[in-house]
Amino acid sequence: MRWSKSLVPTLKEDPADAEAISHKLMVRAGLVRQLAAGIYVYLPLGQRVMDNVNAIIRQEINAIGGQEITMPVIQPAELWQQSGRWDVIGDEMFRLKDRNQRDMCLGMTHEEVIAWIAAHEVHSYRDLPQLWYQIQTKERDEARPKSGVLRTREFVMKDSYSLDRDMGGLDVQYEAHRQAYCKIFDRCGLRYAVVESDPGMMGGAGSHEFMAYSPAGEDQVALCQACAYAANVELAMSRPVVPTFPDWKLEEVSTPNARTIAEVSALLKIEPALTIKSLVVAGKDGPVLVLVRGDHQLRERKLERLLGPFRPAHRDEVREATGVEPGFVGPVGQRIRIIADECLRTGCYVVGANRPDAHLRGVIPGRDFQAEFADLHEANAGDGCERCGAPLAVERVIEVGNIFKLGTKYSVSLRAVYLDEQGQERPIVMGSYGIGPARIAAAAIEQNHDGNGIIWPETIAPCQVHLLVVNSKEPKMATLAEQLYADLAGAGLEVLYDDRDERPGVKFKDADLLGLPLRITVGSRAVKEGVVEVRRRRTGEETAVPPGEVVSRVRSLLGRSA
Ligand code: ATP
Ligand code: MG
Repeated sequence: MRWSKSLVPTLKEDPADAEAISHKLMVRAGLVRQLAAGIYVYLPLGQRVMDNVNAIIRQEINAIGGQEITMPVIQPAELWQQSGRWDVIGDEMFRLKDRNQRDMCLGMTHEEVIAWIAAHEVHSYRDLPQLWYQIQTKERDEARPKSGVLRTREFVMKDSYSLDRDMGGLDVQYEAHRQAYCKIFDRCGLRYAVVESDPGMMGGAGSHEFMAYSPAGEDQVALCQACAYAANVELAMSRPVVPTFPDWKLEEVSTPNARTIAEVSALLKIEPALTIKSLVVAGKDGPVLVLVRGDHQLRERKLERLLGPFRPAHRDEVREATGVEPGFVGPVGQRIRIIADECLRTGCYVVGANRPDAHLRGVIPGRDFQAEFADLHEANAGDGCERCGAPLAVERVIEVGNIFKLGTKYSVSLRAVYLDEQGQERPIVMGSYGIGPARIAAAAIEQNHDGNGIIWPETIAPCQVHLLVVNSKEPKMATLAEQLYADLAGAGLEVLYDDRDERPGVKFKDADLLGLPLRITVGSRAVKEGVVEVRRRRTGEETAVPPGEVVSRVRSLLGRSA
């Protein structure tokens, strides 16, 4: 690529609305531009990164037997009505009508279409297993598009779908994907964790998420260095550090106007871990009193698994269910259903007294009130690992991919069945597997940059070599640079040739910003000493190389054989 003839619009300033480093750098390096909220244009260098990521994904999915197909973005509503997701998914789905007033939608994902293909084309056990995938645009009207290309309303996804006769077959294809995903993320240069996750709206028998470490991530994972336990905090289990419980006797204490845990602990001069937080929620079978330790957060997903959908109760609902104002509710003497976090099985606490301006001190769960116990608290850094007891770390992460065991949810509702060896009709067992190439690119930048710009992993860099001529008007420099450009391109290397008529300072700054792995500078030493400088972006190491040796030096620095 000759820069003077290319669209590489670098910027000196960060975009005003950007917080995530990857967002700032992708815009400043001229990789992307935002057309509307969460809707992006990929400019030439951004497109090259996406092409590189997608090529790696294709190779690895082909290697486990994937067959590439392309399914339509626009889909008829009937498929989604049959699966039940037309009503379950709310505003995230773009819906429209065609000229004949038929309901249509833009595909957020393609399980329904896969099941439709299977229903028509798979007949017998001999047709299975199958593995189909695409690298295709998805449309989702995300509530909060943010962080550049990390969460957009239109994005490309690699989605693959496995079809099997039984769960045993699914297990095999699932494991193949797990390994292929690790190869993909390794090759893209990411540091990541593979964690058990909550299947959410997919439903099914198991799932894992691939989480790249980054402060810009929206998710958090709990990790144990000792035994390698890793789980999304939505579900992560932990053994909280147990406080020293005072030898309180049961009594009422006056707590005028102290409603929150912070206010009550400050007033009574105790640590929040010695209190119990009482939350009233409205479940589908009525109000429930939920208890977690005062210093803990309730993890909603955990409670949702027990109760199904729920919401916090309104003020008047709390009053009606418990007979007291929010802030003074407690479990002692309550008649509604009570679910308490596991860690409250032992200890002696301060709880709301179910009377205004009062709390009870010295309450022992099991003695002073009865409850169902379940794991409800959010795992915190420093808690003990549920499996081995070692302290957990909690890290922010970007979800770059996930794998789901779907089972027969879609094949049953869309009648994707096959005849087994006995001629019996059975539903096809499905798995679905997603990767977001844009998130890979952004996560790679999050993990590989410095104050001057991006430091691309070689495998996904838009080009490997940045050829920079310090003064394109100086005939000797220009001639040599042109020659090197031809030599490198002839050797099959991808080169961005900065032949612009710009000040050297601008060119060097742009080179650091774009972050290609190797920079070759044709400057005054080329004229005086007959050498060019080859510099590694990551380490800053620089060596002088005679022009005739540049191709072989570049090859060896990139770890490629001739
Ligand atoms: P999230 O929880 O972040 O919304 P998701 O669970 O909705 O992700 P899937 O529907 O399973 O994600 O999609 C598979 C992959 O597609 C994700 O792992 C991610 O890499 C990518 N992806 C999902 N939503 C977006 C988005 N809005 N913008 C960019 N990439 C996305
Ligand atoms: Mg989502």
